[in-house]
Amino acid sequence: MASDENPFTNLQEQIDDAASYLPSTVNDDVLTRLKHPERVLETNLTVDMDDGSLETFTAYRSQFNGDRGPYKGGVRYHPDVSRDEVKALSGWMAYKCAVVDVPYGGAKGGIVVDPGEYSAAELERLTRSFAEEIRPLVGEDRDIPAPDVNTGQREMNWIKSTYETLERTTAPGVVTGKSIENGGSEGRVEATGRSVMLAARELFDYLDTPVDDATVAVQGYGNAGSVAAELIADLGATVVAVSDSSGGIHDADGLDPRAVKEFKNDTGTVSDYAGSENITNEDLLTLDVDLLVPAALENAVDGDLAADVQADAIVEAANGPLTPDADDVFQARDVPVIPDILANAGGVTVSYFEWVQNRQRFYWSEERVNDELETVIVDAFDDLVEAAETLDLPSFRVAAYVVAIQRVVDAYTGNGNWP
Ligand code: GLU
Repeated sequence: MASDENPFTNLQEQIDDAASYLPSTVNDDVLTRLKHPERVLETNLTVDMDDGSLETFTAYRSQFNGDRGPYKGGVRYHPDVSRDEVKALSGWMAYKCAVVDVPYGGAKGGIVVDPGEYSAAELERLTRSFAEEIRPLVGEDRDIPAPDVNTGQREMNWIKSTYETLERTTAPGVVTGKSIENGGSEGRVEATGRSVMLAARELFDYLDTPVDDATVAVQGYGNAGSVAAELIADLGATVVAVSDSSGGIHDADGLDPRAVKEFKNDTGTVSDYAGSENITNEDLLTLDVDLLVPAALENAVDGDLAADVQADAIVEAANGPLTPDADDVFQARDVPVIPDILANAGGVTVSYFEWVQNRQRFYWSEERVNDELETVIVDAFDDLVEAAETLDLPSFRVAAYVVAIQRVVDAYTGNGNWP
């Protein structure tokens, strides 16, 4: 994290910013509700280590809002996970599901752990312990976990198997992002990066700028960043720089994103990739490019750094990578920002498709998944542009929150304030 601002207060600021532009006034207490999670579980998991010792890990699950459907969101494994981070991430999930009109509320989980320090057997015991601890909260129609930073198919399979075994049932839709053999969906792994590409494509189209002339820098080369880089390069754009937590690489003639991914898989980092120059993450974020894609963690760009950012447009692949101060800088300079809650919503959208397939026990082709995803993201982009233009809103982020908050408020009002 470039800045240690509190992501939860940043989320609340984003909601306050947008609330003042809502077409109809929202009751102050409803607004308060929209800025806080409904409940947060904090727990400590004591796990057997391979050497016979015990170790205890703090873990969370925040259920932010369930007015539009079951709570939904990933589980993050990272040493910087905190209660406030999980609360913020759960709120971003609620508004993300609303902005793409997927019938879910928002949740997020996290375990304070650096998974690189533990064996697969230790991580399995930790994950199964977490799954057991959250078992009363989750379920196919209650709360549906998914992958996030440092978790993937393996962890989701463990959560599904723990839940199904202890509940003595089959319930593949209790978690999404599973492997295909365990009830996962085609296209889920690529879905977050694919929606980032679609958001970038729609933005360039809206700006009437040819995307195949664009230069692109991608900060973060995990699942979201690497797939976004590959698919944006497939549109004809030139990816000139990418980075991961150990640093970045730059090549003005363009990098081959798939070859860089293979290199990272072999060596553990993108640094020292042949033919490129090593740069820092800060160098990458301030490169003079047409498009910047922050795809790492929250707070990558704060107000100070934003003043040095030279990109002409930003599409957020990570959750919360720009602080509200950074947003103010870009708004003042008319740099368009497609916010996380739309741009990276492909992940949860295909999670929804996975869950629909699980419930029906009927599985779709990859082509169908990608086509339906494209429809959802393009429709959501169009809703956002329409809101921005008809309500004369100052940014795409405000537009996304105006659309999303209104949908949550409408559901809440329709449900009624009971009990
Ligand atoms: N962790 C992803 C996100 O932040 C996906 C969540 C999901 O599929 O439920 O959007």
